[in-house]
Amino acid sequence: MSQVLIRLLPLLFCLLLALLTYWQLPTLKGPQLSLLEQLPFIVCGLAAFMAILANRSKDLGAAATMLISFWIINQFLQEPLGTEPAGQVFGIISLCLPVLLMLFIILPDTGWRHPAFLVLVAFISIFALIVISLFQWQPLWFAQLMPNMGESDFLGLRISPTAGLLFLIALPMGVALPLLQHEQLDTSLPGCILFGFITMSWFELAHISAIMFSAAGLLLIINQTHSLLNMVYRDELTQIPNRRALMRDVRSMGSHYALAIADVDHFKRVNDNYGHDVGDQVLKAVAAKLRRVAGGGKAYRFGGEEFCLLFRGRKSEQVLDFLEELRREIANYDMTARDKKNRPRIQKSGEKKRGASRREGNIRVTISMGVADSEDALHFEGVLKAADSALYRAKDGGRNQIQCC
Ligand code: GH3
Ligand code: MG
Ligand code: MG
Repeated sequence: MSQVLIRLLPLLFCLLLALLTYWQLPTLKGPQLSLLEQLPFIVCGLAAFMAILANRSKDLGAAATMLISFWIINQFLQEPLGTEPAGQVFGIISLCLPVLLMLFIILPDTGWRHPAFLVLVAFISIFALIVISLFQWQPLWFAQLMPNMGESDFLGLRISPTAGLLFLIALPMGVALPLLQHEQLDTSLPGCILFGFITMSWFELAHISAIMFSAAGLLLIINQTHSLLNMVYRDELTQIPNRRALMRDVRSMGSHYALAIADVDHFKRVNDNYGHDVGDQVLKAVAAKLRRVAGGGKAYRFGGEEFCLLFRGRKSEQVLDFLEELRREIANYDMTARDKKNRPRIQKSGEKKRGASRREGNIRVTISMGVADSEDALHFEGVLKAADSALYRAKDGGRNQIQCC
């Protein structure tokens, strides 16, 4: 739940910033207003460039959609919406914006270099070229195809009912789809939809498009930076914080903490007997247990089959009970290796009963732990070394046990 709230924060921040900017508009001077009008190009352009560097197709799609939409608004929608072609262009933008953003919600993030994404971009470009050509060379046809939507009214808003409905479908879809697919909530696309909806609905407000499209670009930049930072500090396999995150957290740990190093016993045998894939799944299962450690501890993957547990403000003796509970839980945890089409997987035995298939094998692993605290050494490196020698003693003592420094 707290993860969802953290993911919602950038959207709330950008929305608040946009509302504050709108509120401050009367105090802005000429050059500041000119800069505000150029801001969406800068932030959406930057967001698109970041997405290109990181090879992220959804973010690139969103940034390019916002960038091009703002350019069209800037070029063609400076006239009253009742006049032609402004009303028609407004109608097209308010329909295309939610449709395109919905498309990027549905499609998987393949990376922009993927042929499917390039084909999609080619299709959208051809469609756009046809519309522009029709608009330039056959304005009468165009007027028949696309009636003036500048005077449309949807719930008292400027937008047409069809466009309003599209926005209202796209917004919950952007929030719900990643959650249904068990992915982390990403507010980038829902945010672009929200800012696009506000712009088109209250289009007559001064500078509304510049403010809202800047907010959308800023949101794309913040969310991309956030997920890159997550990558830097998170272990890809187990999805728990990595060694770099441990070193970062230690700096703000203060002078009272306890550290435990946990190492999976005879892990090489798991790899040898069941294969590397199953080994990976075992590491994930162990990490999932460790991350739920009680006593305010935080779990990190230190490297390979070694993990660290850091307890702020605690001494070694005070964390022994929590660690013992973990050790017992892992030792009693049954995992089933299943060779399905030569792709072994791990399941909890509760989900698939033992012996259900001749190809199955039960896996139980144990861990050994070494514990030390900040009173054992002056610096973290010393505490780490002390915990490591305690771990060696646990291994020498027969494994599946905890030793204190
Ligand atoms: P001990 O009880 O003394 O710790 O024995 P061990 O076999 O666990 O220790 P050893 O250091 O000999 O072997 C660790 C193994 O962990 C070797 C390496 O291939 C494996 N390993 C390290 N990282 C990963 C990983 O990400 N995935 C998998 N599947 N195996 C890994
Ligand atoms: Mg080991
Ligand atoms: Mg080891």
